Amino acid sequence: MSKIIVAIDGYSSCGKSTTAKLVARQLHYAYIDTGAMYRAVTLYFCQNHISHTNPKEVQKALENIHITFRRHPETGSNDTYLNGLNVEDEIRKMYISDRVSDVSTVAEVRHAMVAQQQRMGRSKGLVMDGRDIGTVVFPQAELKIFMTSDPLIRAHRRQEELLAKGELVGIEEVIENIKKRDYIDTTRAESPLRQADDAILIDNSMMTVEEQVELVVRLADERIGQAIRRGE
Ligand code: C5P
Repeated sequence: MSKIIVAIDGYSSCGKSTTAKLVARQLHYAYIDTGAMYRAVTLYFCQNHISHTNPKEVQKALENIHITFRRHPETGSNDTYLNGLNVEDEIRKMYISDRVSDVSTVAEVRHAMVAQQQRMGRSKGLVMDGRDIGTVVFPQAELKIFMTSDPLIRAHRRQEELLAKGELVGIEEVIENIKKRDYIDTTRAESPLRQADDAILIDNSMMTVEEQVELVVRLADERIGQAIRRGE
């Protein structure tokens, strides 16, 4: 059976991960949340007082950072591990969201993460979401999606997610954080967030999660069919 790579990029909190996870489940593919990797690096920098503007400290830190994903036996979720410790809850907190985009501007950090992501996709059969998947990590991905949605809808979704994890954050603070991350992500020098020329734009402001998943799975099935016809 031919396998493809599905690359999903887009702005902060527009439901990429939720969609990507469910698409992966339907296709029986692996799912990788690359935002979690940048968040784990940021957590390590916070815990070890690493300044992202000090290249020597960054280089040394990267040598000591090992990020893996493991399936949680009870919830079935794909949890993020930093040096063998489950950091899934910690990396979603607001203090990490506040710093992650600055850490993600550092070229050395990006090179290390991209190399690991490319290794994960060597045998295809993968749904990966992030900011540079269709442009830098897998420019040859068979299916590229660029997701966006109304900023206020994104902020409310993000606020609900935080609340579900017991973090009460005002809507103004959430909006500020989303705006700041989008600004840094789209204007950074190293692999900025942008829609790949061959990516399909999905504005999900008025779509349910089920509709988004159905659409992406249908597009993926088309691409898998094309790969089979090419004999890949
Ligand atoms: O996807 P999520 O919002 O968790 O990503 C957190 C941050 O990690 C983003 O705002 C962005 O700064 C960074 N990121 C990135 N490249 C990726 C994935 C995430 O720069 N491929």
